[in-house]
Amino acid sequence: MCGIVGYIGHKDAYPILIKGLKRLEYRGYDSAGIALINGKTRTYKCKGKVSDLETFIANQDKSGNIGMGHTRWATHGEPNDVNAHPHISENGYFTVIHNGIIENYDTLKKELISNGYSFKSETDTEVLSNLIEYIFLSKKEITAEKAVRYALSKVIGAYGILVAAKDETNILIAARKGSPLVIGIGHNEYFFASDATPIVEHTKSVIYLDDGQMAIVERDNLMLKTIQNDVLKPEVTEIDINIESIEKDGYDHFMLKEIFEQPIAIKDTFRGRVSKRHQRIYLGGLHKVLPKINNAKRIIIIGCGTSWHAGLVGEYLLEEYARIPVEVEYASEFRYRNPIITEDDVVIAISQSGETADTLAAIKLAKEKGATVIGVCNVVGASIPRETHAGVYTHAGPEIGVASTKAFTAQVTVLTMMALMLGRERGNIDAKLYMEMITAMSNVPKNITKILEQSDLIKKIADKYKDASNFLYLGRGALFPVALEGALKLKEISYIHAEGYPAAEMKHGPIALIDEKMPVVVIATKDKSYEKVVTNIQEVKARKGVVIAIVTEGDQIIKNLANHVIEVPKGHDSIIPLLAVIPLQLISYYIAVARDCNVDQPRNLAKSVTVE
Ligand code: GLU
Repeated sequence: MCGIVGYIGHKDAYPILIKGLKRLEYRGYDSAGIALINGKTRTYKCKGKVSDLETFIANQDKSGNIGMGHTRWATHGEPNDVNAHPHISENGYFTVIHNGIIENYDTLKKELISNGYSFKSETDTEVLSNLIEYIFLSKKEITAEKAVRYALSKVIGAYGILVAAKDETNILIAARKGSPLVIGIGHNEYFFASDATPIVEHTKSVIYLDDGQMAIVERDNLMLKTIQNDVLKPEVTEIDINIESIEKDGYDHFMLKEIFEQPIAIKDTFRGRVSKRHQRIYLGGLHKVLPKINNAKRIIIIGCGTSWHAGLVGEYLLEEYARIPVEVEYASEFRYRNPIITEDDVVIAISQSGETADTLAAIKLAKEKGATVIGVCNVVGASIPRETHAGVYTHAGPEIGVASTKAFTAQVTVLTMMALMLGRERGNIDAKLYMEMITAMSNVPKNITKILEQSDLIKKIADKYKDASNFLYLGRGALFPVALEGALKLKEISYIHAEGYPAAEMKHGPIALIDEKMPVVVIATKDKSYEKVVTNIQEVKARKGVVIAIVTEGDQIIKNLANHVIEVPKGHDSIIPLLAVIPLQLISYYIAVARDCNVDQPRNLAKSVTVE
């Protein structure tokens, strides 16, 4: 979480930093700040969004060819002006912006207080700025770089940091452990950011810092080292995102744009992998671990939030077609419960950003125990793809809206491809069925477009129920996790309480909540549980509940029962989760808009959860 930007070069830093912060605002938006260096350092920071910071700085001196900016997602100390970053050390020697958590900040803070330091903010970050300064002032003839290095050796926790030093105003120091940092290489200039989106309009050549690395950067020189001071050769990568993909492109919100991008995003996920012509689904990224997967005693899928829901859909599909036992776990639970993992296990880690802190930690644990770990990530070059043995990129393009939409369908697409590829390879799917499935998969983008064409109808339904206090979402089989995902979307962006349940579980509790004020969204497409779901709808109607049903096109039975129906095209069971989730995304989007909620920046949330 939190967005970091930095610049060192010959141009005015301010416009680059403020634009960069706007691009990164999806990562955190409770306060923001900027430091500009022009011989001396000036910092400006305030509570609120980047636009508030812009107003705040409007009439200030904005000169400087070096600078750093931060948009915060508070972990330690409430969002206010003082806790906003940058944090300047007590005597003004160091200015720091930080993404992550200094876990031993309390011990370090007490030590610093006993050495005469006082603190202005409640943040863990100010501890780091004072620690660097304390080391700098107490050791003789020490460089800023060395002081940062010593300070980091005392820190437990996660950080991506940028540091400026009063006595060395021609450098910026970047370091990383656990929180991402990318450095863009220009002509006699360098750009820093938490992800590549603020960098892409300046340069495509980047260096991804690895954990335990630091960079000491002048405008015409970059030195890469480990935090232990070993010099490293930087590995320069070319990024392949383009500027259009990170702009709103005429849509009111990034979320809406990303919902409507799903046909293209899924085509991109398929590209080179699903071929009707060759009658084949093949994930090249798994090639080297295929024998391991085929011999796996168990697959464990780990993820958080929406990625966990994608994992649950994957569980149904992998068990059905690959016939390998699957467990799905929250990464945050898995990593702390001493799980039993062996070399015969294959772990699939799912994360849009590829930086999710709990998922990364869970991967490290699984690797220590000998499992083969596969990543399913969207952001190319992120930490998880670099930490795993093999992986499949979802290639959905940058996702900026905090509530995940196209990343979810792209993740489910990858897991569906995996299930079908393994199912065929392991002899569980015959040639005829395999062809049917490939055709069904190939038709997903155009079928999603058909659902998107019903957005006016979905908006009308949303407007009607925008004031409900609770929603229930029901589904069966692989559509149960889709119900969970629908409920999560509504909670995230409209702040309406919602729960997802397996439809048959309704009578074990949630049915008690149903009355005429309770909208129940039921995924009731034609599959083997169809009749059972129809009965569930009748049970809701008998208690005067409002039923919004997601049905297979042409379904008359449910049309006569439900208050509203939204149709999805026919298709093989394996791909219905990809279709059924689309109306649920649109329902939550239109409800949030009708309630005047900030769709792209919902309260308290942030994208890319890089803290535990
Ligand atoms: N822990 C720091 C704070 O609360 C940084 C949080 C962030 O990553 O935005 O200020």
